[in-house]
Amino acid sequence: MEQFTTFGASGYTTENLHLFRNVNDVDGVLADCPVVRVAAGQSVLDANNRGGCLYIVLRGALNVEPMATQGGGADGTATKVLPGECVGELSVLDEESNSSTITAVQQTDLLVIEADRLWKLIDESNDVARNLLRLLSFRVRTANAQLRRRQKVGEFYRQLSMLDGLTGLHNRAWLDENLSPLIADAHATSKPLSIVMIDLDHFKQFNDTYGHLAGDEALKMASRVLNGALRPTDFAVRYGGEELLVILPGSSQTAGVMVAQRLCMRLQQAVVFADMRKPLPHITASFGVAGLMPAQDANSLISAADAALYHAKESGRNRVSAAI
Ligand code: GH3
Ligand code: MG
Ligand code: MG
Repeated sequence: MEQFTTFGASGYTTENLHLFRNVNDVDGVLADCPVVRVAAGQSVLDANNRGGCLYIVLRGALNVEPMATQGGGADGTATKVLPGECVGELSVLDEESNSSTITAVQQTDLLVIEADRLWKLIDESNDVARNLLRLLSFRVRTANAQLRRRQKVGEFYRQLSMLDGLTGLHNRAWLDENLSPLIADAHATSKPLSIVMIDLDHFKQFNDTYGHLAGDEALKMASRVLNGALRPTDFAVRYGGEELLVILPGSSQTAGVMVAQRLCMRLQQAVVFADMRKPLPHITASFGVAGLMPAQDANSLISAADAALYHAKESGRNRVSAAI
């Protein structure tokens, strides 16, 4: 960046510069400040390069890209700096290096005000100080809004990573994060809680006979049956493969058995279509129900439901067993 002229000789005035709004008699102080001309694409400040200067756009435009988005920048966090606006004020104020990369969008003229000169202006004019404070509060607000947006996006992806892609049910990662707190809550409030472990019957054979895609359809259908039969406060989880798990906060083991029986009935009546023409044979599942015991933890509760499920399988499948 070469000096092109001085502000005094450049023909520009402070009239439209935001920092000098309502400030009188400042042109004289700035008269010998350099004005530089930057070609399109040329860099003004590199990240990590201590600025020490404030730059005001007189003509053209700059692109400011925060460090984190460089190379990508797809989340739209790059901002344009237009005539009258400035960059670099933070590194003048705190003497830290600049955290953005700034390049000229087109041929751009910049007024360069060195740190000492800016401090002098601040010392001598309350109006300059006030304008600078306004500018900084605007920057803080913009940064906060950006942070909130990113948090929302992050939360969206976190939620997405807790869902099973095939069935849309919660996945194992969700269970690992949520079952223990639900159990702790039940213990703390002395409310019941029960879980139902579900395993599709002879599902290997179903896959072998009708194909894996038909198997996938059957799994999706079973998940829809669960979702359609539960209360909004219950949770359906794909525990693994063709094993599903339902959490029923507020329900005792007896109530859990009734829910499981309803699910068992609905599943055996539901129809699976591999394609629109021919329905496949009905599928069934076996159900193991366990109610939370005093001081019981998540692992022990799951084991109890697993044991009940094993019993349901052993005694003929397509049925419900409860923990003893
Ligand atoms: P059982 O009645 O004793 O439970 O017999 P099963 O055949 O269901 O039990 P097994 O555990 O031997 O087989 C489970 C089958 O579930 C095998 C596997 O191919 C199938 N399976 C697991 N996940 C998926 C899936 O995402 N899609 C499909 N189509 N099949 C799956
Ligand atoms: Mg299984
Ligand atoms: Mg099975």
